[in-house]
Amino acid sequence: MEIKSAEFVMSNSDVAKCPKSMLPEYAFIGRSNVGKSSLINMLTGRKSLAKTSGKPGKTQLINHFLINKNWHLVDLPGYGYAKVSKSSKKVFQKFITQYFKNREQLVCGFVLVDIRHEPQPIDLEFMQWLGENSIPFGIIFTKADKLKPKAIENHVEAYKSILLETWEEIPNYFITSSSKNIGKDNVLEFINGLNTN
Ligand code: GDP
Repeated sequence: MEIKSAEFVMSNSDVAKCPKSMLPEYAFIGRSNVGKSSLINMLTGRKSLAKTSGKPGKTQLINHFLINKNWHLVDLPGYGYAKVSKSSKKVFQKFITQYFKNREQLVCGFVLVDIRHEPQPIDLEFMQWLGENSIPFGIIFTKADKLKPKAIENHVEAYKSILLETWEEIPNYFITSSSKNIGKDNVLEFINGLNTN
């Protein structure tokens, strides 16, 4: 799929205020600094559609972009655990869980993880939460230029073996590097395949 147009639509922190149109939607999420903005800019071929920044804790907004006038790309904020008083239970921020639970237009979410690190509990717990709630998602490994092929393979295997402890199959996954323009076509063709189903 070639991206011919990419336009910012709106930002808000309330899933009820997201665009009403029923266009298919794909959401990108991960911890801050994972390389999400860079990935969105690579996918769309725009230098600064999503704002890149080294600073964590940017305003927590759901950002909608209209792509090729027929689907929405959604840039979600970096996830983290919400502070819940009187309970030590870890939960994700409410507007993120509400987005995934309530957004009918969502076709597939993409959880971004930095390929350089061993599987991190928060990323695994978020994937687990998506699975438990039957929300379709894929995994996008970012910053693949930082590792040698063998190390990439080892880190992907580490994720696979942990996920396969609880699941029968692992989600679709993609290895990407925004600096080296790797993985763009695989992600876009996957989205295109879902859009044309
Ligand atoms: P976000 O907070 O998840 O949106 O992350 P950004 O896209 O702002 O990237 C965070 C940092 O990682 C920036 O310093 C980027 O230059 C760097 N970065 C992002 N993608 C890549 C990549 O594919 N390769 C490398 N080497 N660095 C990257």
